[in-house]
Amino acid sequence: MSAKIIDGNQLSKQVRTEVAKRAAALNVQGRQPGLAVILVGDSQASQVYVRNKIKACEENGIHSVFEKYDVSMTEAELLARVHALNHDSKIHGILVQLPLPAHIDSHKVIEAIAAEKDVDGFHISNAGLLMTGQPLFRPCTPYGVMKMLDSIDYPVRGAHAVVVGASNIVGKPQAMLLLQAGATVTICNSKTRDLGHHTRDADILVVATGKRNIVTGDMIKPGAVVIDVGMNRDDAGKLCGDVDYAGACDVASWVTPVPGGVGPMTITMLLVNTLEAAERN
Ligand code: NAP
Repeated sequence: MSAKIIDGNQLSKQVRTEVAKRAAALNVQGRQPGLAVILVGDSQASQVYVRNKIKACEENGIHSVFEKYDVSMTEAELLARVHALNHDSKIHGILVQLPLPAHIDSHKVIEAIAAEKDVDGFHISNAGLLMTGQPLFRPCTPYGVMKMLDSIDYPVRGAHAVVVGASNIVGKPQAMLLLQAGATVTICNSKTRDLGHHTRDADILVVATGKRNIVTGDMIKPGAVVIDVGMNRDDAGKLCGDVDYAGACDVASWVTPVPGGVGPMTITMLLVNTLEAAERN
């Protein structure tokens, strides 16, 4: 089998066109959606992510504010900035880029963001709402994955979905969204015995571990949909995912590439969440 590609760049373009239209409609009413992004420290990777988010806002009619602080910023100073943005009527979404420096408690910072501006969907209230099937914000990466499945009209209901990775920001919310869409869900973590036993039974396989080539072609059920969330560097420094892409292409019916798969969708769904926050406001 030669898998078809779910093109995250192409799908992003379609969704962003719709976002830009709806943002323009709000703008006409003097209610332009606004996103504030806070970055603390000098991580090169974080700077690239943040730059891409700001650029996507600018290109799609979303007002953005970028606040960059030195690594020496204290937790109290950061909390004060978050509180100020909570009360800024031009800002509908607040994103604090993770990871934060070790001296800052990221849980405390996330909990300080007003739940109705928590466009990452990481606030404990939003995690609870998601868990109980009444999401206010869906975390951007899992939300993007669901959009990708929608885009190929995949019948999620009744399918067996296996999520490899159980982080609070990807794996767990991903499993919850798949469950709510009617899938039977298995979640694997680093302690899972015989990972291949589980992945080989997946109709939908979502891999989010940060471990290059953790899933190889022989671990994939023929005809499965394989969504690779991972972002790693290969020996040549090239961006790659968690799945052996060539191996997956031989066995799966659909695969997502890295780069050009889930990555652009994550940013796109951040725009969607910001837009929806402004529309609700
Ligand atoms: P994380 O917080 O480090 O969590 C990794 C998860 O993978 C953990 O649950 C861990 O299990 C599990 N895991 C590790 N080794 C495993 C193994 N051998 N078998 C099964 N599970 C294993 O990472 P994350 O934040 O979820 O991110 C995961 C990857 O996705 C990273 O590469 C990250 O860069 C990427 N990512 C991409 C996007 C995007 O937009 N494309 C967005 C977010 C993240 P334990 O719970 O047992 O430790």
